[in-house]
Amino acid sequence: MGGSFKIGRFSGIEVRVHWTFLLLLAFFAFIGYQRSGTLAGALTPIAVIVALFICVVLHEFGHSLVAQRLGIEIHSITLLPIGGVSNLESLPEKPSDEVKITLAGPLVNVVLAPIFFGVGLLLGAEPRMPTDLFTGVGSVGQFFFYLGYLNVVLAVFNLIPAFPLDGGRVLRGALATRLGALRATEIASRVGQLFAFAFFLIGLLGGNFLLALIAVFIFFGANGEAQMVRQREQTRGLSVSDVMGTKPHTETVTPSHTFGQVLDSVIHGYQEDFPVVDERGNLVGMITREEIMAAAHSPERYSSVRELMKTDVPTIPPQADLFEDALPILQQSGLRALPVTENGELVGMLTIEDVGQASLLGPLPRKTGATA
Ligand SMILES: [Zn+2]
Repeated sequence: MGGSFKIGRFSGIEVRVHWTFLLLLAFFAFIGYQRSGTLAGALTPIAVIVALFICVVLHEFGHSLVAQRLGIEIHSITLLPIGGVSNLESLPEKPSDEVKITLAGPLVNVVLAPIFFGVGLLLGAEPRMPTDLFTGVGSVGQFFFYLGYLNVVLAVFNLIPAFPLDGGRVLRGALATRLGALRATEIASRVGQLFAFAFFLIGLLGGNFLLALIAVFIFFGANGEAQMVRQREQTRGLSVSDVMGTKPHTETVTPSHTFGQVLDSVIHGYQEDFPVVDERGNLVGMITREEIMAAAHSPERYSSVRELMKTDVPTIPPQADLFEDALPILQQSGLRALPVTENGELVGMLTIEDVGQASLLGPLPRKTGATA
């Protein structure tokens, strides 16, 4: 995810923090200081938020470690001001796997809550909830008691069936066994969007802007994932070679082409990204619209493609699965096009538009012999 930085790594999973999270800390520290006029008043909300987010990270590790056991690769966990996100390499295919991965998160909070309540009470906390983040956490015991309460909130809130929250994923998993992934996701995301709408109104009318923000996140998250599943179902069985632009239809350049020649191709052609090949037809890099435009606007005049091109471009073989293999690489790379190669030789190019068109084509007719 853009705009985030790494703070650690555990079990091969990177933990990252989005910079806006620091904004949230600064904001609450400022309000705390303003209300109390003391350093302690500024530090209390920071301590609560950091502790809460450690619990959120543990919740995400609950999901991630179970996913890892089920053979799904996890790239990272990112902390945003509205919560944590585990970046799974792929969505679990089996509904029962999704339910297991999903329940592991809230389960972590269910385990943590009584521990924190216990520690709080041992340290002399009164069993009451703070009314306010800034004045309600008076002692270390009360702080732990409050954390216990926050873990209950985390578990309960996440189990609301508002897809893509955990509860919504469980709902989808339960529906998918009978209705299939596509229909189940569509229903779950509709329900999620209804909840999002309600949260947004409640948040707005009640002055709880964090809830309103979470509602927006749920709304678009539900939409995005439903779209992804639709794409996966509709492109199932397609390979890269089914939809890519083949070599004769792909304009290439050589490292010795001049910048002016490429700029001309961008302006007068229909292609935005160009594979760079040597005289034997082997791929040596790629030059994208981004580099071309940056060079066009920079005062330095680059003389050749060699100086502008990307050389560490990911490639994909033509027989690779379109959704399972190519799309994740495309998304991870941040590129709009991938060179398709076979034994180092360029055989075509796969663009995001090609993938989009593939889902319009619909699933390939299966060779099952059955006719209807
Ligand atoms: Zn979760």
